[in-house]
Amino acid sequence: MKKIQMVDLQSQYNKIKDVVDSSIISVMENASFINGPTVKSFQKNLEDYLGVKHVIPCANGTDALQIAMMSLDLKPGDEVITTNFTFAATVEVISLLNLKPVLVDVELDSFNIDCNKIKKAITSKTKAIVPVHLFGQSADMEKVMQIAKEYNLFVIEDNAQAIGATFQFSSGIKRKTGTIGDIGTTSFFPSKNLGCFGDGGALFTNNDDLAYKIRGIVNHGMYERYHHDVVGVNSRLDSVQAAVLDAKLPHLNSYNKSRQTSAKKYTELLKGCDKIKTPMFSNGCIDVCSNCHCHVFHQYTIRILSDKRNDLSKYLSDLKIPFGIYYPIPLHRQKAYKNKDYDDEDFLNTNLLSSQVISLPMHSELTDEQIEYISGKITKFLSQS
Ligand SMILES: *Cc1c(COP(=O)(O)O)cnc(C)c1O
Repeated sequence: MKKIQMVDLQSQYNKIKDVVDSSIISVMENASFINGPTVKSFQKNLEDYLGVKHVIPCANGTDALQIAMMSLDLKPGDEVITTNFTFAATVEVISLLNLKPVLVDVELDSFNIDCNKIKKAITSKTKAIVPVHLFGQSADMEKVMQIAKEYNLFVIEDNAQAIGATFQFSSGIKRKTGTIGDIGTTSFFPSKNLGCFGDGGALFTNNDDLAYKIRGIVNHGMYERYHHDVVGVNSRLDSVQAAVLDAKLPHLNSYNKSRQTSAKKYTELLKGCDKIKTPMFSNGCIDVCSNCHCHVFHQYTIRILSDKRNDLSKYLSDLKIPFGIYYPIPLHRQKAYKNKDYDDEDFLNTNLLSSQVISLPMHSELTDEQIEYISGKITKFLSQS
């Protein structure tokens, strides 16, 4: 059996090596390292793929979130609602901009922001909601957009883990995640569903004014050369990374399809074990989304419904089966974000999840044999303990 890895970027690269290599070499031959034609080409191709009017590439997913918030002219002290169960980058940028992060608990089933708890968190200072499509699954964007409309709030979708995922509204309309709110952001960190060979990120919007503003902010606040109208940043996707992404984008749907197929296989093998809660597949999708990409399984995350999660982790480590605990500490308990306004009792689901979750190897190159081996070891361990 091939060595099991949490992500297998070598195998993925080897399959499209020729295209990726020639794409990178052409950047070197043109010596157009910054804002070269590959950046423009990737931008256009991603706009078409997502069905969004504007893609603005930038240096990484954290910058994308920061730039999104800068573009909305928020004032220090303005409140931004987001989820307590996400990667720290989401709240980090809120705090860095002297805005106030207001954390909301998540749903146990989807791991995403609990829309029924958003209204309670809204005050006269609330300006934006940042849903995170965690682990590849869309948050309930229908409810998020309804609340945002009712209270006149901006919506920034943190789509770093869900590129290619779809949300289906009750009207039947389907939209790619990240293109539903005012702005969507993503990361091209190598292990993300669409990853480059270093750092990269992008913002998406259908709003021409916001797109114009964002294009200036990523480039030192310049709208005309050496005229700095606003305080900006330097955040670019370099041409080499764009070349890699442009070569990989045509494969994104098939990568996501492989992830779904692997997820389905895991679920079949694990669902008989009553100590495991396998992840929910998706909003309204039966089985494994045969006709859409509702959930793109950035992670395959199960809950261990006993107090054995940490023992299982140790057992898997001993067997050299990689795993991840995303995320072990809720944000409201992190030193950097602790705040007297947060009441531990308000985050019962997040608290429970951080003690129960474990993410299994998940990438586009997993084999059935590997999934069977991993699932077999896990069910055996849990049935004996
Ligand atoms: C990866 C990630 C980010 C940050 O992306 P970087 O490119 O690493 O800066 C932000 N939010 C979420 C949910 C992520 O998973």
